[in-house]
Amino acid sequence: MRLQSFGAACTVTGSMHLLTLDGGRRILIDCGLFQGGEALEVRNHEPYPFDPADLDAVILTHAHLDHVGRLPLLVNRGYRGPVYCTPPTAALAGTVLLDSARLQVEGYRQDLRRARRQAREEEVLPPLYDEEDVHRTLALLRPVLEFGQTVTLAGLRVTPGRAGHILGSAYLLLESADGRLLMSGDLGHRESGLQPDFTPPPQADAVVLETTYANRRHRAWPATLAEFSAALRQAVRAGGKILIPSFAIERSQAILSTLRKLMESGEVPRIPVFLDSPMAARATRAYFEFGDELIPEVRDALRSGEDPFAPSTLHVVLTGDESQRINRYDGPAVILAGNGMMTGGRIQHHLRHHLWKPGTSLIIVSYQSPLSLGGRIVAGAETVPIMGEDIAVRARVHTIGGFSAHADQDDLLAFLETAGTPHVWLVHGEVPVMQAFLPVLASLGLKGDIVPDRQMVDLRGSGFSGGRPPGLVPDPEPTGAEVKGGH
Ligand SMILES: [Zn+2]
Repeated sequence: MRLQSFGAACTVTGSMHLLTLDGGRRILIDCGLFQGGEALEVRNHEPYPFDPADLDAVILTHAHLDHVGRLPLLVNRGYRGPVYCTPPTAALAGTVLLDSARLQVEGYRQDLRRARRQAREEEVLPPLYDEEDVHRTLALLRPVLEFGQTVTLAGLRVTPGRAGHILGSAYLLLESADGRLLMSGDLGHRESGLQPDFTPPPQADAVVLETTYANRRHRAWPATLAEFSAALRQAVRAGGKILIPSFAIERSQAILSTLRKLMESGEVPRIPVFLDSPMAARATRAYFEFGDELIPEVRDALRSGEDPFAPSTLHVVLTGDESQRINRYDGPAVILAGNGMMTGGRIQHHLRHHLWKPGTSLIIVSYQSPLSLGGRIVAGAETVPIMGEDIAVRARVHTIGGFSAHADQDDLLAFLETAGTPHVWLVHGEVPVMQAFLPVLASLGLKGDIVPDRQMVDLRGSGFSGGRPPGLVPDPEPTGAEVKGGH
C-alpha cells in the first residue's frame, strides 16, 4: 500500500491523501482546501498530479473545509465515482461547500472589480467552483459509513471509528491484502463540550496520524469552563460588547451550549446573545438531526425537547441589515460571529465598531494563525487594519485555549495505545511540531516518519520510494516488516 499526500503533508491544511493498493486500485482519503494565506491557497489552483477519473473511490473523514473543500474541483476535473462518508458528514458537507462556493464567487467578483481599475483583469484567478458544481458533488455523496461497522468499498474493508473531533468525524481502519492501515483523520481532544471521546482504535500495521497539537497539552475541560466563565463575568462588568469570533461548525455550537449552561446555572448574568452567522445557524440543524452522536448531557436535552444550543436570550441574526442593527443595541451583549480568525465575515464590522472601546471584551476561543487579524491582536498590536481603516485595540482580549477541537499530545499517545506497535506516519502538522514528536514516539518504542509533501511513501517499509527531503528526520532502520508482521 502506497501513500502520496497532496495536502496536509508538512502543513495543517488541504488534507488530500492518495492510497494506491497493490492491485493498482486508487482511493483518495479527503479532498480539502488549502486555507491560511495566499502562499498556501495558490495550491488550490494547481492541477492534480493524477487523473481524477482514474480514482476508484473517495472517502471523507469529516466535513471541515480543509478536508472536503476541493471535492467540487475534483468533480469538475472528471471524478464521477462515489464519495463515502458518515451521515452527519454528508449533512454538514452541503453547508460547508455551498458557503465555500459563495465565498469563491464573491471573492472573484471583488478581485475582478479591483483588477479592472488597474487594467490587470487577466491576473485574477477564476473561482475554483460555483454552487452548481457543489450540487453535482453532493449527488455523489454516499453516507454509508457507521461507526464500528465494516463495509467493503472498492475492494477495501473499511471500518470507521469515532474520532471525537466534530460531528460525524471518523478515523478509518483500512484492510486489504496489503495490511491494516489506520488513517486518523482529525482527532478530538478528550473531554469537550459536545463530542464524546474518540473510541480506542483497533490494532494496525501502520497509522497515518494527524499532529496539529502533537507538542501541546490542552487544559482540562473543567478548567476551560472556569476560565471562560470568569472572562464572561469580567466582560459583563466592563459593560461593553463581548465579541466571540467563532467558526460556524462545532465551535459555535460548543460556545452556545456552554453559554446556555453558564447562564442557566446563574454563573453568568443572562445578557443578550446574538448569533450573527447564518452558516452556524444552518449547521446547527445537523446537530439536532444527529443529536444522538453528542455527549449524554446534550443528547438528553435534545431528546427531552430542549434546545441545548439556545441560551434563553438568544437572537439568531440572518440578514446583513440585522447584523448592522446589533451595533445600535445598548448595554452588554455577546456577539458570536464568523470567521474564527477574523480574516473576513461579519465579525469584521463588529470589530470596527467596538475594538477601540475600552469597555469591549474580545474572547478568543479558536486557533489564530500568526498572520491573521486575530493573530496580530493576540500578539499585542496597538492598532490593526480593519475594512480599510486603522482601528485601535483598546478592548480587553481574553484567550481561552481549551475549546480546541484537536487532540493534544496526551490524546495522540492515548490513541496509539491500543493500535499495537504500528509504524506511525505523521501528517497534518507543522514540521517543527512533528520533529519534536518523533523522539516522543521513539521513547515509546514506536517508529515514526514525517510524510513528505507530494512524494510517494511505501507504507510497508520505512523507505520513501520517491526519495526523502533532506534534513527532515533521521533515517530509520530499513526493516520492511512493519506492516506485515509483528502481531
Ligand atoms: Zn478538522
